[in-house]
Amino acid sequence: MDQPSQNIEKPDLPIDEVVEAPCAHSRILLVDDDEVFLHLCKRYLRSDPTANHIIVSANTIGEALLAFQFDTFDCVIVDYCLPDGNGAEAIDRLTKTAAGKMPCTIVLTGQSGEQAAIDAVRSGANDFLTKGNLTKAGLCRAVNNAIEKNHLRNLHLSRLKDLEVANSLLRRRNDEIQRFYHTVSHEVKTPLTAIQEFVSIVFDGLAGEVSEEQKTILNYALQSCDQIKSQFDELLELSRFETGKMQVNLQPASIYEVLDHCVVPATPAAVAKNISLLIVDEPDLPMVSMQSDRIIQVVSNFIGNAIKFTPENGEVTVRVGLTASGDKLRVSVKDNGCGIPVKDIKHIFDRLYQVNPNINHDSKSGMGLGLSIASQIVELHGSRIEVKSKSGEGSEFSFTLNSAAEAVRTIAA
Ligand code: ADP
Repeated sequence: MDQPSQNIEKPDLPIDEVVEAPCAHSRILLVDDDEVFLHLCKRYLRSDPTANHIIVSANTIGEALLAFQFDTFDCVIVDYCLPDGNGAEAIDRLTKTAAGKMPCTIVLTGQSGEQAAIDAVRSGANDFLTKGNLTKAGLCRAVNNAIEKNHLRNLHLSRLKDLEVANSLLRRRNDEIQRFYHTVSHEVKTPLTAIQEFVSIVFDGLAGEVSEEQKTILNYALQSCDQIKSQFDELLELSRFETGKMQVNLQPASIYEVLDHCVVPATPAAVAKNISLLIVDEPDLPMVSMQSDRIIQVVSNFIGNAIKFTPENGEVTVRVGLTASGDKLRVSVKDNGCGIPVKDIKHIFDRLYQVNPNINHDSKSGMGLGLSIASQIVELHGSRIEVKSKSGEGSEFSFTLNSAAEAVRTIAA
């Protein structure tokens, strides 16, 4: 038995009938000029006990376009042969009118409609049914699949939209943070330089005689100024890396020179804690492709941290050697210090992240930027920093560098 009909609210539309079922419904546009076939399809669809459809019918592409202007549908069923064009043209024109909201489409083809089906699918149809073999079960299954697919696609699109909004919000916040870093560092650095200048004048005795005790105090002030300045420099540098403004200029260079530049300045800190700072390398290591000052920055950060987080009388080992494949050098810095808790390892490269200062008792002196910068530098050298660490036993930080010959081979290939 037919369910009660409901007239659509737009009086001028050439839509013949709207049938509404009692619970949550889907809207279907049925386009065919064959009234008998339209009637058959409606009967099949209405008798589906698992669904609840509102069916709007149109006899031509023109009528279907009109319906599309006022209504949204979850599924379109379109005959391939219509008085004002074929199914492929119908899909094409409906898709343009739908402006990105074209529902899933099923094309009805004649008995020998293989080519028509191919054309329709090429124009965007999701499914096709042969009119001659149409069954109630076949039609209902195809329509329900199309509706489900449409629903999932809409869900996916709305999630995508949400993500895009969240993403652009994050990007805006990130830009604000970068701008904040720039402004604050410039604003702070100018008066800081002035303070440093004036303290230096007093320290050098240019403003009157200074006692040794006063000199010691002034020296602390100067060191603190240096520390603040270098922390702001790190902040600015990281923001330049993160905004892609920092590049490296890779040149063939010697790893031995890098080691010298890193170890010599670190020695006083190691001596102060009676930490033995060892270098283990092999003779005749090949030249590597790197920007030396940047790799010095990375290795110095590793060594500085190793000394900082290792107690007195500990051991820090800087090791350089060829990898098993022989085309790269591995650089590692190992200590037997406090180590890093497992839960923190994945965060130590995050900007401003520091492991609980109660565990790493000496970490107050840093800002948690060194490893973020180091990881960006190592990535620009085509590698990644690896960390092995165990709480209470020590840590090892390492990365690889391409040998200069290998880098030339890669460029040539
Ligand atoms: P910081 O300037 O604070 O040292 P880093 O980015 O270099 O910043 O390091 C981030 C954090 O990672 C440190 O604060 C410390 O908690 C942990 N860390 C880094 N290296 C070591 C290490 N060798 N041993 C133990 N903890 C380390």
